[in-house]
Amino acid sequence: RIYLDWNATAPMLPEARDAMIEALSGVHGNASSVHHEGQVARTVIERARRAVATAVGAKAQSVVLTGGATESNNQVLRHHIVEHARPSLVSSAVEHPSVMEVVRELGQKEVPCVVWPVDSRGRLDLAWLRARFVEAAAEDSQLASPTMVSVMWANNEVGNVYPIDEIAALVHEFGALLHVDATQALGRVPVDFEAAGVDLMALSFHKMGGPKGIGAIVAREGLKIEATLAGGHQERGRRPGTENVPAAAGLSGALKALAEQGEAWGEALRKKRAVFLEALAEQSIEYELRGDLENHLPNTLNVAFKGIDGEDLLLALDLEGVSASSGSACTAGSLEPSHVVLAMGFEERDARRSVRFSFGPSTPEEDLVEAAKRVGVLVTRLSGYAAQG
Ligand code: PLP
Repeated sequence: RIYLDWNATAPMLPEARDAMIEALSGVHGNASSVHHEGQVARTVIERARRAVATAVGAKAQSVVLTGGATESNNQVLRHHIVEHARPSLVSSAVEHPSVMEVVRELGQKEVPCVVWPVDSRGRLDLAWLRARFVEAAAEDSQLASPTMVSVMWANNEVGNVYPIDEIAALVHEFGALLHVDATQALGRVPVDFEAAGVDLMALSFHKMGGPKGIGAIVAREGLKIEATLAGGHQERGRRPGTENVPAAAGLSGALKALAEQGEAWGEALRKKRAVFLEALAEQSIEYELRGDLENHLPNTLNVAFKGIDGEDLLLALDLEGVSASSGSACTAGSLEPSHVVLAMGFEERDARRSVRFSFGPSTPEEDLVEAAKRVGVLVTRLSGYAAQG
């Protein structure tokens, strides 16, 4: 089979798998225990913390290990609301549901929340954000001044990469905090927490070859981040619960591979993308690429095929051995069009055309060529059915 759904989850790197197997068979202590076995487990956890810090250009004490980016995003946003006397949030229209849904819920609880719109290519206009701050600062303004802005580093559905350093500078000019979900950026484009001036960041490791169910919050020094759970002192009280030692070992393995091969991965991904695009262009079918192709993840392509419903094509591709995604969420059995593509201004029917292909450094080029050929055959066949009515 040809797996082109790395943005949902990536196959595990051999370095991650080997480290996990070693930990599963040899490290059975609880990292909170003071005895030898406990201390061996503690070493695994602290090594993982240092690996995360090095991978994203932060200090080890800034890193809180969590159960993934959904948890990290929830915790950062909810903590801000508790911590701040008059919280007010801005989040982009293309955030992952683990940001969008928390913001919606907080909005219903009367926390002022606004959505930063995107244009038809999914781009964010910094002038919009500046205007929002300036308007709120006016003497007779009824608007709450934003206290936190939440923007992703890279979008999971259309692949846009956002100018995080410029956004950080603007947010700080007005004394607010910037929270960045860097889940899809890590392992695909360089991520530097301190150089970009980010205050809080959410990470997950299964998108880049680490294990599922482990992530992190990175918090700038001096920023408090309180637990959402109670009942344990782990992670200095910021994430109670016995640490997932095998997953921590796996994430260290994955990040070791990133440190050694990251640059080559970026280059390989750009080449593979060109190969896939060329193979797609050779098919006699009509399609358009969605997103901001100038500021883009090298592993993601969001493609809309003329006259074809994305779900029909995905099902047909699955039967032909190709796994891709529409980025749509399955809600109560009905397939919703992607909120990201809708936010870009497409009508519902048009939004449903989006198909996301995402691949990784180990995806063979021949697989990409073969997948493009199968897409060509299936789109032609489905167009025929559509024309018959
Ligand atoms: N944020 C983004 C941008 C994602 O793509 C995902 C994964 O679907 C998440 C957050 C959630 O991460 P996790 O699976 O670790 O909860």
